[in-house]
Amino acid sequence: MRVSKLLSKTLRDDPSEVETISHKLMLRTGMILQVTAGVYSYLPLALRSIQKIEQIIREEINNAGGQEVLMPTLQPMEIWEQTGRDIAFGDNLFSLTDRRNRKMVLAPTHEETITAMAAAHIASYRDLPVTLYQIQTKFRDEPRPRAGLLRGREFIMKDAYSFNLDQNSLDESYQRMREAYRNIFKRCGLPTIEVEADSGAIGGKDSHEFIMPAESGEDLILFCRESGYAANVERAKSIIPAVRSEPLRELQLIDTPSIKTIPDLASFLAIPEEQTLKAVFYQADTEIILVVIRGDIEVNEIKLKNHLHATDLRLATSEEVEKSNLTPGSTSPIGLQNIRTIADFSIESGNNFVAGANINDKHYMNANYPRDFNVDEIIDIATAREGDQSPDGQGKLVSTKGIEVGHVFKLGTFFTDALGFEYTDEHGSLTPVLMGCYGIGVSRILAAAIEQNHDEKGVIFPAPIAPYQLQLVSINIDNEEVAIKSEELYLTLRNSGFDVLWDDRLETAGVKFNDSDLLGLPIRIIVSPRNLKEGMIELKRRRDGTSSKVNFQDITSAIKSLLDMDEL
Ligand code: ATP
Ligand code: MG
Repeated sequence: MRVSKLLSKTLRDDPSEVETISHKLMLRTGMILQVTAGVYSYLPLALRSIQKIEQIIREEINNAGGQEVLMPTLQPMEIWEQTGRDIAFGDNLFSLTDRRNRKMVLAPTHEETITAMAAAHIASYRDLPVTLYQIQTKFRDEPRPRAGLLRGREFIMKDAYSFNLDQNSLDESYQRMREAYRNIFKRCGLPTIEVEADSGAIGGKDSHEFIMPAESGEDLILFCRESGYAANVERAKSIIPAVRSEPLRELQLIDTPSIKTIPDLASFLAIPEEQTLKAVFYQADTEIILVVIRGDIEVNEIKLKNHLHATDLRLATSEEVEKSNLTPGSTSPIGLQNIRTIADFSIESGNNFVAGANINDKHYMNANYPRDFNVDEIIDIATAREGDQSPDGQGKLVSTKGIEVGHVFKLGTFFTDALGFEYTDEHGSLTPVLMGCYGIGVSRILAAAIEQNHDEKGVIFPAPIAPYQLQLVSINIDNEEVAIKSEELYLTLRNSGFDVLWDDRLETAGVKFNDSDLLGLPIRIIVSPRNLKEGMIELKRRRDGTSSKVNFQDITSAIKSLLDMDEL
């Protein structure tokens, strides 16, 4: 492709009101164009990259035994009502009405449709297991579409689904898919971390996410270098360091004027926060509950919500607390009755705590469980932190931010039960089909790749997913020899199977080099009058800026070895 003919032009300056690097660089290179919030057109350069990512995904999922299908985006609302996901997706579900007044949905995912499709063709144990997948556009009315392709309202996803006879067969499909995912990200040249993920209230079901470490990521993950344990903070467990243990002292009421928060309490008494207990009222659907945890630890609301099987969990308002005849402020489990109380294990990792007294401006010193208060349950609802021990006790947890690019999940029989999909086993009895689902954010990968691979000059594309592998830059193209040699080289390289973007414009070397740094194709090939005088062509690697000069006849092998360096 010749740059002079390319649809998109580069922007000199950063677009305004764009914060994320990938978003900025994709606009500046003319890869995408916003149509409306969270909805983009893919211009030629972005589409080429996406097609390369899709090709890698297809090859690996086919290798893992997947069969490709294509399902519709436009669907009747009824199928969503059958599984209750019209409500579960809530406002994220795009819905519309057709001319006959039937409610329709623009699908955010395809578990329902694929289950119906599989059920229409599978009846016997002989037909199972089967894995189906598609690469298709999804719609989600995200509350906060952001960062270009990172979180769109319309985006491309690869979604795969396995249908299995039993747990063993599901485990096998799940493992095979995890392996395929590892291969996909490796072949794309994108390091990812595979982490244990929250699997929702269903509990006990395996779920893993593939996270690309990046500062701009919305996910926080914790991992242990020693043992390899890795989990999303939503799910991570840890061993919380115990505080010193002392002989139990007597409970004592003290004055704490205007002290409302744990940090204030700790500094007022000159004690560490871990020497305090925190008690908080939560509203879980229609029930108000009390949660108790050591003062230095945050409640993990996802763990709590899963435990309670709640649809909605949030802090209770003062009005809700008062309505239940409870006192907001200096909240404490001490002396409180008739309220469901859930505590974190950390209340047992220490003693002689300072705790609330349910009386304004007062606290108790030397509060000890179970001597001074009761709880209904003690469970793990702690937010794991960097520096805590890994749950396997083999080392400390470290944290990193990242972008979720893939998610695999064992669904069990949730959808097959709801949609009545059973098979006949060897003995002739009807058995529910088990299911797994496996998603990859195809368009998100492109943005995440740029988040992970850039410098102050622009993108640094990993070779396997670069829109073109090579950028041929002709300096002084009005020089006849440069024009002839460039054209010759352009043909030779293309005939050797490389994809080449040829900057054939009548621009200065400065403009061309800046644009080429901005787009960040892996290798730049420079044809200039000076190089030609020496009978050489110059090659420059974008990732590390190293350059070398080669003869015309050695060019293809030199390029091949440079590209190989870019594969992980
Ligand atoms: P997130 O937590 O980021 O909202 P999710 O867990 O809701 O994502 P899944 O339902 O697991 O997403 O979808 C599978 C994959 O699709 C995700 O791993 C992610 O890579 C991608 N994806 C999800 N939502 C979006 C979006 N709004 N824009 C782009 N890609 C997305
Ligand atoms: Mg997910």
